[in-house]
Amino acid sequence: MGFVASIKSPQNVQGSAWCFAFSGQKIVVVKSREGIRLPSSNNPGSFGFDSPAIYLGALDGVDCLAGEIAEGHELPETMSLVGLRQLFGAVEEELFVVAGRAFQLVEFERNHRYCGKCGGRTADKPKERAKICPTCGLAVFPRMSPAIIVAIRNHGRILLARAPRFPEGMYSVIAGFVEPGESLEQCVQREVREEVGIEVTDIRYFGSQPWPFPNSLMVAFTAEYSEGEIRVDQEEIVDAGWFTAESLPRIPDRISISRMLIDAFVAGARGG
Ligand SMILES: [Zn+2]
Repeated sequence: MGFVASIKSPQNVQGSAWCFAFSGQKIVVVKSREGIRLPSSNNPGSFGFDSPAIYLGALDGVDCLAGEIAEGHELPETMSLVGLRQLFGAVEEELFVVAGRAFQLVEFERNHRYCGKCGGRTADKPKERAKICPTCGLAVFPRMSPAIIVAIRNHGRILLARAPRFPEGMYSVIAGFVEPGESLEQCVQREVREEVGIEVTDIRYFGSQPWPFPNSLMVAFTAEYSEGEIRVDQEEIVDAGWFTAESLPRIPDRISISRMLIDAFVAGARGG
């Protein structure tokens, strides 16, 4: 069944529910000898969110609620706060994805209590994941920032580049945010040109991944090298090169779609 998003009043939640509770950038987890898990509650109203609860939808039929815990709110001894990334691999992947959704909607709620146009108090837009200003009518939707990510192939090799913010020795595929007025394909061509100075062709959709750090949607592509010499600007990218499946440097962990792109290249190379 998986996750089914829907909008209903949190007051109508009956029985057990998953509780995604955030304090700033961190999420509340239950610690046990087996590791960490997300809290659930038989009586979500008593969980102790310090903000109104947000209803997200249901995961395999279990309702999911999100909310905020005020800074300094004392948690039960069995609970603690961890960064969202720490959940990956520690809880089921579907729960991790819902936690990313919860994180972004809590942030949206926190940052849109007032209208950006007239300063009036906003209200929930009925039946939509949005805020409406009853005074001036301005509607605001959660902010999404689409970004492209692309694996460039060239005769059995893949282009990997290193940004200065990466952990020591790590390389990855090229990525960048989409600009207003640009198609995804144009964005791929621009980012590749800007970051490594080459041209690409045969741009094909690979897949997408919501990326809640903080509110991106990663849209992944493969492309073929067409012309030019690698040239890096030494600011956004400090080094780049062509790698075979056998000579890969350190690459991102399994959490990201960049790793899926690189894994698909490796599988293709091994398959002939
Ligand atoms: Zn307004």
